[in-house]
Amino acid sequence: MNISRREFLQMLAIASAAGVHLPGMAKTSSNNKPVNAMYDVPKYGNVHLMHFTDCHAQLLPIWFREPNINIGVGEMKGRPPHLVGPHLLKYYNIKHDSMNAHAFTYIDFVEAGKKFGKVGGFAHLATLVKHIRNSRPGALLLDGGDTWQGSATSLWTKGQDMVDACKLLGVNIMTGHWEFTFGADRVKEIINNDFKGHIDFVAQNVIDNEWEEAVFNPYVMKEMNGVKVAVIGQAFPYTPIANPRYLIPDWSFGIRDDKMQKYVNQARSEGAQVVVVLSHNGMDVDIKMASRVTGIDAILGGHTHDAIPEPLVVNNKGGKTLVINSGSNGKFLTVLDFDVRGGKVRNFAFSLLPIFSNYLEPDKEMHTLIEDIRKPFKQDLDQVFCVTDDLLYRRGNFNGTFDQLILDAAMQVQDAEIAFSPGFRWGVTVMPGEHITREHVMSQTAITYPTATLTRMSGTDIKNVLEDVADNLFNTDPYYQQGGDMVRVGGMKFAIDPTKTIGKRITDMELHGKKIDANKKIPGGGLGQCIPSARGNPHLGYRRRVPGRQRFSTH
Ligand SMILES: [Zn+2]
Repeated sequence: MNISRREFLQMLAIASAAGVHLPGMAKTSSNNKPVNAMYDVPKYGNVHLMHFTDCHAQLLPIWFREPNINIGVGEMKGRPPHLVGPHLLKYYNIKHDSMNAHAFTYIDFVEAGKKFGKVGGFAHLATLVKHIRNSRPGALLLDGGDTWQGSATSLWTKGQDMVDACKLLGVNIMTGHWEFTFGADRVKEIINNDFKGHIDFVAQNVIDNEWEEAVFNPYVMKEMNGVKVAVIGQAFPYTPIANPRYLIPDWSFGIRDDKMQKYVNQARSEGAQVVVVLSHNGMDVDIKMASRVTGIDAILGGHTHDAIPEPLVVNNKGGKTLVINSGSNGKFLTVLDFDVRGGKVRNFAFSLLPIFSNYLEPDKEMHTLIEDIRKPFKQDLDQVFCVTDDLLYRRGNFNGTFDQLILDAAMQVQDAEIAFSPGFRWGVTVMPGEHITREHVMSQTAITYPTATLTRMSGTDIKNVLEDVADNLFNTDPYYQQGGDMVRVGGMKFAIDPTKTIGKRITDMELHGKKIDANKKIPGGGLGQCIPSARGNPHLGYRRRVPGRQRFSTH
């Protein structure tokens, strides 16, 4: 995209006019419209895209608290997505106490949640997608992946619930990450059967080990109002490291920006006037890629769950690329309009719309499908374990209250002195006073490799694990970051300096108020292979199952 500074300022003006800052409005029920007026996004231009990502299989409206800590190191310090709470509000000029402040930050979460209600839900999202499509016939709906995983029903149906829901929603194109944890055969089965004629699965950066050929279509070309639009897929580059390699033994992943450049050029030579990348890189990786690869108009990204109210404009040798990340858990929908004339993008309008469930009537057909999906599992889903006094949440670089609960359980059940749980960014929030149900617990733990492990670890082992995970999170080169948060730790304490380099970040490890000995072995519990995968190797030896004590069963 070639734009001048004046044009860029115009774009920002349009972006704001298009509804980035939502006014507080009456609920839908009071004006008898299925969609609250705050979702009337004025149509702009002639190419229209919608994007959601990382819904993590949340079909129903939920609570979801955004992070209170998101540290950026090196060049990433102090810029999106590493701004949270009041800093984010200030940067984007969002009013405190507004609906947007609640959508984009953790501030006063409980009070604001009670005021504005739950977020997301596929039936509500479906209503909004239809509403946007009414004014923009032919608009494409892009799904950034992490769609088939994150709930009890998605695990128990091997992703089928989400596949059916996405088809009904009218998703046109998707890429993936956690999808691959159902195994290569299941992924292929869905793409070759369910998706055929409905949804294009694209990923330019996945090749087979033997022939080095593309496993999926690298990109797809669509035509809208006479304009050719190429959508190139970028699956999560670190899938076999962050998740078990044995699930996808024949596929090789990577960032592969040389190949990305090749496909951008190829799409342009085939007549694409708009080229966008549907990415599951994580936002810092997207930003670096946008600075290196030329000819991309926009990267629509996910994986790191960043809800960014306005696009970042990244300069590169060929012009400018917009970097957009659309949050997580079904909480947001991006609407991106391009004005394309004379063979290129002249301008754009952008909105990241929070899905406030009370302000959108549920779509009837989608509501019925969700009911049907849940019916056989209803009793299990609704099983109540206990009531929480405190807010339970996950997001934050170092710990979350729901993680703490899981760690306490892992230590108690396994008689471990310390425990580790992966720094997942998915998992819903539970309000104080609410029942904790099996469905809530599954929203934190529903994975296809749920092994609970117990092993004896020395101080040196523990430090190595923490150092490796910290380097995945705080490496100053985004191309070495794998997303997620720091591994959650129970029972012990440590100090961390994210600005140091690998081997030097973690100090002062303590257990029961005493320094942890480098050589003395301590019983440590681990969940979901968090320890081995953190070291980039799923077979490091933390695989001894505790007989009869597997905490999180797959039903
Ligand atoms: Zn992901």
